[in-house]
Amino acid sequence: MNDLFPKEHFESWLKAVEKSRKIVLGTHVNPDGDAIGALVGLGLFLKKIGFEVTLVSPTRYPEFLSFLDPGHEIVVYSQDGQTAEQAIKEADMIVALDVSGFSRMDALGKIMLNSKAFKVLIDHHTDPVNKEFDLVFSTTRISSTCELTYRVIKSWKADAVLSKEQADAFLAGIITDTNQFANSVYPGTFRVTSELVAFGADTEFIYDQVYRNFSYNRMRLMGYALQNIRLLPEYKCGYIVLPLDVLAKFGYSNGDTEGFVNLPLAISGISVSAFFLQRADHIKVSLRSKGDIPVNGIAREFYQGGGHLNASAGKMEDSMEEIEPLLKKALGTIIA
Ligand code: 5GP
Ligand code: MN
Repeated sequence: MNDLFPKEHFESWLKAVEKSRKIVLGTHVNPDGDAIGALVGLGLFLKKIGFEVTLVSPTRYPEFLSFLDPGHEIVVYSQDGQTAEQAIKEADMIVALDVSGFSRMDALGKIMLNSKAFKVLIDHHTDPVNKEFDLVFSTTRISSTCELTYRVIKSWKADAVLSKEQADAFLAGIITDTNQFANSVYPGTFRVTSELVAFGADTEFIYDQVYRNFSYNRMRLMGYALQNIRLLPEYKCGYIVLPLDVLAKFGYSNGDTEGFVNLPLAISGISVSAFFLQRADHIKVSLRSKGDIPVNGIAREFYQGGGHLNASAGKMEDSMEEIEPLLKKALGTIIA
């Protein structure tokens, strides 16, 4: 398990953790299954062995992930800034999870960056902002931050025993970030999955919570999205646009469109998909691809965002009419 990082990383971790009592864990805005899974999995583990731990997310997580936080232990910075700021002020150690740097945590990240605590990064995105951290566990050759965090725990304490709740949290992140074991899967992914199942992780429970737990409204909105997929065959692309009036008609609530970006990829011959969600002051853009088509490049260059090779996101502040011309321009740079 110790094959990903040199042993100095673990020596540094050990030294820092031995000196720490209060630890704050943070993750990115609009947290996904991997972000919340890593936060909860590591958080519960550290608490159980005696650390005083505060879990912070910059914004609320979608409702379908609430099964990972039954005790409502995650402090949502946008709703309760004071608790988060106090914990950061007192922290000996800060661990940033599933982000390449503090900017992915917006205002919360700024406060963490200015803290005197020992700062650790555990992440699987490209281009980690090393200078913001005292210790960096970062690799892209792994399924998820959840897998990586579990492997850090096992390298630190080889005989660590996880509870069912910790194992469920880590496995939920692996399942969601790999798109149900479709991409970013390595031999280690299955090794870790096997160990998590041995600790009691319940795949059927996780599937029920994440993929079979939708409101009637969301299913009807998905019906609309499927009916309105637009194709750009010359770019092997399918995309979906959901404007505010449509969202209102289907009683949209936060998280209802989770996974919609993947729908066009189910069409034969489609290798890139895009999803545009109109918000009050911008359009949220999600991008997915198959194989080696790098959507993170266009997320960075055209949509003020970034992410992974096959799963990226960003935003645009232009009008809705600009969606297709900009998309074509962006795709032109990656599809021959
Ligand atoms: P989603 O489409 O699920 O919102 O985001 C897909 C992936 O893109 C996320 O897992 C995250 O890694 C990345 N991502 C989303 N928004 C941003 C952003 O604003 N900046 C960067 N660098 N990456 C993002
Ligand atoms: Mn992730």
